[in-house]
Amino acid sequence: MIYLDNNSTTRPCESAIEALDASARRWWANPSSAHRAGQDARAQVELARAHVAALVGVKPRGITFTASATEAINLAVRGVLDATDERAVVTTATEHGAVRELLAHLAPRRGLTVRVAPIGPTGVLDPDGLEALLLPGTALCIAHWANNETGVVQPVAEVARRCRARGVPFLCDATQWVGKMPADLSAFDLACFSPHKFHGVKGVGALVTRPGFGLVPQMPGAQELGRRGGTESVPAILAAGAAALAAAEFLRDPDARDRLARQRDRFERAVLDGCAACGVRARVNGSTDPAHRLWNTTNLAFHALEAEALLLMLSERGVCASAGAACASGSLEPSPVLLAMGIEPADAHGSLRFSLSRDTTTEEVDRAAGIVLASVRLLARATGTRA
Ligand code: PLP
Repeated sequence: MIYLDNNSTTRPCESAIEALDASARRWWANPSSAHRAGQDARAQVELARAHVAALVGVKPRGITFTASATEAINLAVRGVLDATDERAVVTTATEHGAVRELLAHLAPRRGLTVRVAPIGPTGVLDPDGLEALLLPGTALCIAHWANNETGVVQPVAEVARRCRARGVPFLCDATQWVGKMPADLSAFDLACFSPHKFHGVKGVGALVTRPGFGLVPQMPGAQELGRRGGTESVPAILAAGAAALAAAEFLRDPDARDRLARQRDRFERAVLDGCAACGVRARVNGSTDPAHRLWNTTNLAFHALEAEALLLMLSERGVCASAGAACASGSLEPSPVLLAMGIEPADAHGSLRFSLSRDTTTEEVDRAAGIVLASVRLLARATGTRA
């Protein structure tokens, strides 16, 4: 099976699996217990926290472990809203569902005004457009660093600067960035990420808070410095620590990222050229400017084809990809992110995301490109969809 769905989740690395195993066998006690076994587990959790904090350039105390990035986003958004009377939130049109759906849920319940900065076909946010929405009474601004569907990179440092100038707290959703690119999350008031996106395991996410930034806890309890109650998932946290060390090692070598970007480009080229040769209209969704693009992602539109059908054909032939956000797959609706970028529905319906990991090989992308092309040709022929 060739796994090209790494923005959804990555395969745990060997050291994360070892940490998981060690935690189940040796450090299974409750890290909040005063006894020796509990304190041994606590020491391991704090070591893992230090590794995770170092990966993102913050102090260990700035990290709150949650169960997922989605939970970290909930803690940040609800925690800010509970601490202020301001009732407007500014965000972008291409946020992950974890943000989009939370704001839609909270708006009627909390009387929120949600102002959404538009995003054009390149997928890149215009900071001027967003800044114009940072009106008095804005409780929070939220923007993602890298897009989970297109890999498009947003100018979050600039957004943070403009928010600071206007006194608006900024939450950076760094879930797709951390582990793939060097990150300094100390530049933000709030940031979140999820180690299962960089070869950790599922069951843990992280919220980063700037020192002194006050949040109202959403699950009261003594754990995580009182920011998030509930016994920590020691296995997932230890695996996150190991994954953070491995990611830091990977990030030390910029050539590794360049090599992977070339692999992604090679895959993209092979598929697009092959489509052109057989009369199927295909193109990349979002910017192809390397400065605005993560090394691992390509989102391809196969005009007038049905993405769900393609996905199943690929899966049958040994390639895992996804259509839209992973959590939206299973629905036939085109991706709200692509529609928000103004991609025409016949392209959005036929769009697939392929995302590499640091372990993806050239041989895998070449084989996958062949399988994608064969499937596209078959479906185009079956449905009479040709240029
Ligand atoms: N934000 C972004 C940009 C994501 O890509 C994801 C997951 O794909 C999330 C948030 C939610 O992460 P989690 O699955 O850890 O809740």
